[in-house]
Order: sequence, then structure tokens, then C-alpha cells
Amino acid sequence: MAGVTLFPCAFDVPCDAFACSKPARWFVGRHDGPLNLCFKLCQDCAASLVANIPQELLPQTTVSESSNEVPNQEQAEEAVQVEAQEEAAGLRNYICLKCGKAYASPQRLAAHMRACKAVPSHE
Ligand SMILES: [Zn+2]
Ligand SMILES: [Zn+2]
Repeated sequence: MAGVTLFPCAFDVPCDAFACSKPARWFVGRHDGPLNLCFKLCQDCAASLVANIPQELLPQTTVSESSNEVPNQEQAEEAVQVEAQEEAAGLRNYICLKCGKAYASPQRLAAHMRACKAVPSHE
């Protein structure tokens, strides 16, 4: 719903979180709506909420290093995860000659090279 935000709570009311009795510092809800319909959070609970926002709710960030490619969004996110795991495991030995990206299997590299739009650098 549009208009739902975290906004400061200046009233002397307790946090609504279970088993938390600290004073509320933040409202969660519509600023223009009835405040008694807003969820109230103390500083700690609000910070915890913000720190634990699910990935799918975060604003999409674009990966700047592949700005010359426009892959399917879902495939790209999956690939980034897989690539990160492979990079951590030191498995990426197949390197695109055009853009320098490394892949863990010749099949994946071949699939990338068909789609790779990077222009070979002239050195
Ligand atoms: Zn709390
Ligand atoms: Zn490439």
C-alpha cells in the first residue's frame, strides 16, 4: 500500500513487539492515517526490522561491472549467487576472451559467450 512508512513516534507509548516493553520511537504505517492503527517500535526493534528486510523487498541494485549486458533479471540474480559461490570455491577457470568474466564450466562459458556483447579490447 502506498504511503506506508517508518516515521518517528513522539508519544510515551510502549513498543508493540512481543516481549518488548521499551518506549516506542517509531510508527510503522500511514502518516496520514489514524496513529492507533500504526504498529509501534522501539529503537532496537525498528533497527532489527530494518536490518532484516527480506532481499526481495530491497530496491533493485544494478551490477555496474556488467552494465554493457542486459540479462534477464531473474537469471542474472541467480547467476550472481552461483558465481559468488564458485568464486569463493576457486572454481572459475573458464574465462571469456571478450569481457574477462570467469566461469566454472565450459558449458556456462559457451552460453555466456553467445550472449556476451563486450567488444574485445585493442591493446
Ligand atoms: Zn521493542
Ligand atoms: Zn564475455
